[in-house]
Amino acid sequence: MKSLLVILSFISVVILNQEDSRFTRARNRMVTTQIEARGISDPGTLRAMRTVPRHLFVPPSYSSEAYSDRPLPIGYNQTISQPFIVAYMTQLVRPARGKIALEIGTGSGYQAAVLAEIVDTVYTIEIVGELARESAARLKVLGYRNIVTKYGDGYLGWPEHAPFDIIIVTAAADHIPQPLREQMAEGGRLVMPVGNPAYVQELVVLSKRKGRITEQRLEPVRFVPLRRLKEN
Ligand code: SAH
Repeated sequence: MKSLLVILSFISVVILNQEDSRFTRARNRMVTTQIEARGISDPGTLRAMRTVPRHLFVPPSYSSEAYSDRPLPIGYNQTISQPFIVAYMTQLVRPARGKIALEIGTGSGYQAAVLAEIVDTVYTIEIVGELARESAARLKVLGYRNIVTKYGDGYLGWPEHAPFDIIIVTAAADHIPQPLREQMAEGGRLVMPVGNPAYVQELVVLSKRKGRITEQRLEPVRFVPLRRLKEN
């Protein structure tokens, strides 16, 4: 009986290891073919994309598709962005050690984890209570001690921890919320999909230099709408 148990646990360890290395291979392939091949070159971003186990951020029924070239549903009508978009937005905000980041729209927690591989601290806010709870639990299990999560309306930013070197908004609106502009640090960068939330938006990057904010408009993208808890 005892030896049967030993054999069974040995077999399950072998199976789990095989599954793990399958995901690792899929992840490396994703970075090579979807991300590097499309021009992402920031070493920190590439390393983070090779490290974070994306298959653990999607519902179990989608784990075999976690490394495919598209967004996936994460429940509550929300989605985890396509891997390339996560990498692109990450590179755009110029992540580095020593920086403090704010993310609006935690969702699965994947973008927060990618940033947390590079910067010092990531503050992230989610407006759907269930997603906020699930992602906080997931990030804790995965050992991300430098991510601080919060349930609430990210439109208002997180003034207690401002200013931020990096602000990433992963939901779309027709304008950049004023509180987020005000919470940018000197030398800081903000990226957000701006446009009609029901159709297509443009990725907009703000940079703050000597107190002045300049704007750059980039690729067309599609994101879920930024919602409000109440109009402020
Ligand atoms: N970054 C996520 C994907 C985000 S999808 C990931 O890596 O998985 C957009 C998320 O923004 C959704 O979870 C949505 O509920 C959330 N959201 C929408 N409006 C918000 C708001 N005002 N404040 C905080 N989160 C918001």
